[in-house]
Formats: sequence, structure tokens, C-alpha cells
Amino acid sequence: MKRALLIIDMLNDFVKEGAPLEVPETRRVIPAIKREIERARTEGEPVIYVCDSHEPDDIEFQRFGWPPHAIKGTKGAEVVDELKPLPDDILIEKVTYSGFYNTQLDEILTKLGIDTLRLTGCVTHICVMFTASDAVLRGYNVEVVTDAVAGLSKEDHEAGLRIMKNVLGARLI
Ligand code: ZN
Repeated sequence: MKRALLIIDMLNDFVKEGAPLEVPETRRVIPAIKREIERARTEGEPVIYVCDSHEPDDIEFQRFGWPPHAIKGTKGAEVVDELKPLPDDILIEKVTYSGFYNTQLDEILTKLGIDTLRLTGCVTHICVMFTASDAVLRGYNVEVVTDAVAGLSKEDHEAGLRIMKNVLGARLI
């Protein structure tokens, strides 16, 4: 097994108090994500940040009704200071829910020989779940760190975890 750690959308625009797409729970999972990053670095596991990066007039804002967030090149689109990537880490910019859609993620994972993804970040039933889905359909094993993913509501968070476990065969850890 060769694993990579994914940190999904832990950006200022999701994490900070009063941010446009604030997910308050993200602030509670920062220590668990830090723990996973430290573990991954100790074990020589690639650390991959998967980050929203939108154009100011991105169709996603109209289509899904989200307030504008994570606009390319702004502070809001940057990973929070507490979890800042190191130069050796990989950063993938995405434009929608899945980290695989129109990105280099699959190619990079293949080059690295990765067969297992460990997912952390937000939002449990949105970007985490759609990335898990695309990963599974591409043949990756998926692990979800339950204390390191954040939901918008407890109900949606639990539904996301349940679907990833029961429908996608993800391992909840
Ligand atoms: Zn977005």
C-alpha cells in the first residue's frame, strides 16, 4: 500500500470567522489535521492540498447558489496559516467539488505510485465526498479521518460519512 494524505479546502474563506463560506467546524478539526500532516511527514507520505480556486464570475456560484469564495489569487483562497504547506507538498487547484475534475491529481498520484488516499478537510458531504467518489471510481482505496473532516451541519456530516462508508466502501478511521 502506498498512501497520500489529502487536505481539502482548508482555506481562509471556509475556516475564518465571518468568512464568505464559513464552516465553523473546520476550526475544531485543525488539530486533527495537523496530527495527520505530522504523521504523514514522519512516514514519508506525500501531503497534497486540494484547494478551491475560482474565477470571480465562476459559474459554480450561480449554479449551486454559493456565495463567491476562494477567488484565485486572493487571501481567501490560501490555506490557513495553521496548516501552511511546505515547499515539498503538492497543491492542486480545483474548480468544483471533486479534486479530480479537470485537475492533475490523478496523473500526479499515478506518477507517485499512490493506491490509497487518506482524506481530511471540508466539507464532509460535499468536496470530501465527491473527491472520495471520484477516487473510488478510479480504483483508489479511500480512508476518511472522521475527526479531521468538517461538515456544515451534524446531519449532513454524518450522512456524508455514512454514504462514503456504505456506498463507496471508504474506511472510516
Ligand atoms: Zn467552491
